[in-house]
Amino acid sequence: MRYILALDAGTSSARAALYDAEARRLVLEAVPVERRFPQPGWVEQDPEEIWQAQFAAASKALARMGADWKQLAAIGITNQRETVIVWDRRTGHPVAPAIVWQCRRTAEFCEALRQSDQAARITELTGLVVDAYFSASKLWWILRHVPGARERAEAGELAFGTVDTWLVWKLTRGRNHVTDLTNASRTMLMNLNTGAWDPELLNLFDVPACLLPEIVDSSKVVGVTSGEVCGAEVPIGGIAGDQQAALFGQACLWPGMSKNTYGTGCFLLAHTGDQPVTSGNRLLATRAANLPGEKRFALEGSIFIAGAAIQWLRDQVGLLASAAESAAIAQSVRSNGGVYFVPAFVGLGAPYWDPHARGLITGLTQGTTRGHLVRAALESIAYQTRDLIEAIEGDIGRRISELRVDGGAAANDFLLQFQADILGRPVVRPADIETTALGAAYLAGLAVGFWKDLDEIQRRWKVDRVFEPSLGEAEREELYAGWKQAVARCLTR
Ligand code: ADP
Repeated sequence: MRYILALDAGTSSARAALYDAEARRLVLEAVPVERRFPQPGWVEQDPEEIWQAQFAAASKALARMGADWKQLAAIGITNQRETVIVWDRRTGHPVAPAIVWQCRRTAEFCEALRQSDQAARITELTGLVVDAYFSASKLWWILRHVPGARERAEAGELAFGTVDTWLVWKLTRGRNHVTDLTNASRTMLMNLNTGAWDPELLNLFDVPACLLPEIVDSSKVVGVTSGEVCGAEVPIGGIAGDQQAALFGQACLWPGMSKNTYGTGCFLLAHTGDQPVTSGNRLLATRAANLPGEKRFALEGSIFIAGAAIQWLRDQVGLLASAAESAAIAQSVRSNGGVYFVPAFVGLGAPYWDPHARGLITGLTQGTTRGHLVRAALESIAYQTRDLIEAIEGDIGRRISELRVDGGAAANDFLLQFQADILGRPVVRPADIETTALGAAYLAGLAVGFWKDLDEIQRRWKVDRVFEPSLGEAEREELYAGWKQAVARCLTR
């Protein structure tokens, strides 16, 4: 029996899954990874713990199947994006904790940069909006603040990587120093169009080129695991950042196809084909996972508060015992009763971009019940998604015909039905909603011929349920107009 192993290095846990030739997930094991908050707004992880947890998850998954590393046809890696690790090339020791994507320690530096005349140029080169979120300013911070780091970097003694780079380095015992195009496109150091490190950006963030990994295709054998580490030499065949892996795992392989991941927030990605699309709505242009010899791009939008609104009703307000019961409670009322909930807890992102907006609930009457409030919270996730879909369609100049969905809150049938209703197009939930790991597995399997081509991936992708829109256009637009009115009330400008 031969398997593909997917390593999914998430922010809160390291996960490992095994797939058979039918692309069926046979096992999934997770090991928690700690985050540390040494100062307000700072988020760190221990790179060694990231590696140990990932290796432990893989070992557990193999043990669960009674399998061995020798039975692996290939390994695929997907990871939390933007997180920065710098280590000594000779000893392999990190010079500082990993600075996690959520970390805001460089917010001030980035704010100054955003106000400067360089901001537009950075966006032009990278497709990204200047923000502390991306790797470049985090790497800048390490070189500036860790004693000796800059000198050692310039002497070629150090290596930089995102989490994928670090895991490949560990698995191969330092033989391979690589990152894939999707991860590199989130560093703010890569030229989005050419797919190479950009000298202008390196200069701007003061990064010596000798620190950087080689940028490789997402589906390609980049090395083999060290026999001393894993007990076998297994090809590492796929690498992609988590959201791009999910896009691939959803078999959104051609222009116009899109997926939305409903978790704490939402991540919506639309495939835009072989040309980068610049956004008029400050959405991010990024690389989609690619096979050798091709260029693939995507537009990405995110919603800050999605499932977190349900969590808030449960944990802060005490209106729900569990997130899962929100579906039944929302369905206990026939309509939203005129109630809208704008969960702008941390401001609003695309297409409004108002960091100072705060949440509100409108349309309350004496007849408003718990059902209306819960329903309004779930509906807000769907309205925000429509906002993003419209922004993306405006940018790409074509209609998105259906939306594929995954993530924890995609288990909620009420939410997905309402999503279809408010979009006026089908919402499709696949049989395997662990699409991130599946995408990494697909990329690795394609690289070693375990699976043949993209058509096979498309065929293997299976639907669980299609939610067809059932609202008339007039009703749909009336509801959406109500949402727009509520949003207008909470905007600060
Ligand atoms: P993340 O990966 O962002 O941590 P998950 O994909 O595990 O999140 O999804 C968890 C989020 O989804 C939580 O915010 C939770 O409130 C929400 N959620 C989980 N199940 C449901 C459900 N059945 N209905 C609505 N929201 C849900």
